[in-house]
Amino acid sequence: MTNTTKQQPDSRGYFGQYGGRYIPKELESAIFEVEAAYNKYKNDPEFLTEYQDLLKNYVGRPSPLYLAKKLTAKLGGAKIYLKREDLNHTGAHKINHCIGEALLAKRMGKKKLLAETGAGQHGVALATAAALMGLECEIHMGAIDIAKQHANVIRMKLLGAKVVEVIQGGKTLKDAVDSAFGSFMQNYNDTFFAIGSVVGPHPYPAMVKDFQSVVGREAKQQILEQERRLPDMLIACVGGGSNAIGLFNEFLGDKTKIIGVEPAGKSFKPGEHAATLTLGKPGVLHGMMTYLLQDGEGQPLPVHSIASGLDYPGVGPEHSYLKDAGRVEYVTANDQEALNAFLELSRTEGIIPALESSHAVAHAIKIAGTLPKENIIIVNLSGRGDKDVDFVAEKLNI
Ligand SMILES: *Cc1c(COP(=O)(O)O)cnc(C)c1O
Repeated sequence: MTNTTKQQPDSRGYFGQYGGRYIPKELESAIFEVEAAYNKYKNDPEFLTEYQDLLKNYVGRPSPLYLAKKLTAKLGGAKIYLKREDLNHTGAHKINHCIGEALLAKRMGKKKLLAETGAGQHGVALATAAALMGLECEIHMGAIDIAKQHANVIRMKLLGAKVVEVIQGGKTLKDAVDSAFGSFMQNYNDTFFAIGSVVGPHPYPAMVKDFQSVVGREAKQQILEQERRLPDMLIACVGGGSNAIGLFNEFLGDKTKIIGVEPAGKSFKPGEHAATLTLGKPGVLHGMMTYLLQDGEGQPLPVHSIASGLDYPGVGPEHSYLKDAGRVEYVTANDQEALNAFLELSRTEGIIPALESSHAVAHAIKIAGTLPKENIIIVNLSGRGDKDVDFVAEKLNI
């Protein structure tokens, strides 16, 4: 494997006008240190061998590329393949970059991993990687999210992480990010800030993509083995954008049509969705220039999605670039469509998808029947739905 990707930002971390590094002076040396370390290790054979060994023997890669025959037959059009990131250890794609970030932190001689989490999925994956590497782990989480996501809080604690309750502001993800940044500024000598998606200041968007790009490399090889040709279409859900770019990256230079699906939530009214690329405008958030759902003063707007992992007012800068360049099309699926897709995949294929991934499945369901039977779609099934079953049961009264 090479760890190089199809599209790199420039030396200042820009994809076109997006990305960069909008951070306070006090954080500069800490972020430069991460960049220098990543540049040193990203092509280091020993580092890559250790990373790949963990992906194989700990995470369980490669994840299968599965032809969903019953769903395909039911929709009556294009063949639907599922890239099964739900089968990874800890149940989603996030472990791919958490292992990479933890390994880098260890090489840098850091003692502790620090991060924010919203629904707790990134916190659990990072606490897992920390336990594996023998590092301490500190996760900042809003008080409201702590109350809502009790099972993930317990998991983090069982894995040995310290969960810091954030009681400032709206007490959700954005406040947790601010709180984690604050802690990082005080302790960066022995701490590595492990961002949970392809967001934040350079080098995080490029680095997290490199770790996730294994998904697309595997999918390309697998589809060539099974179909002897490239797919006609890729579909993935977009929160921060890490599972999506992980699948897309390897295909950016091909003719394959690429679609990212954003959450349309309850409606397109402000505060009721998180369709950043569809309805946002460029601005600065969390150290990067990117599309942003913002008010007249540039402050991030509240967001909503039935899938808490998609609940973010920004998006990775590379997606902003790919949208403007016209290489990737960004569409939406709403809460109800995601819920319907969640049930459809459960009943038709015996696979309970994460509500995040259900947005990608929902778009495949919408479009497959309109395409010829010879067409091939790959849907990234970014995670499993075990975490969502109580919530869905309550919604559906079952
Ligand atoms: C966190 C999460 C997402 C959203 O994050 P991206 O960075 O956009 O991939 C999607 N699916 C699952 C299962 C998640 O846990």
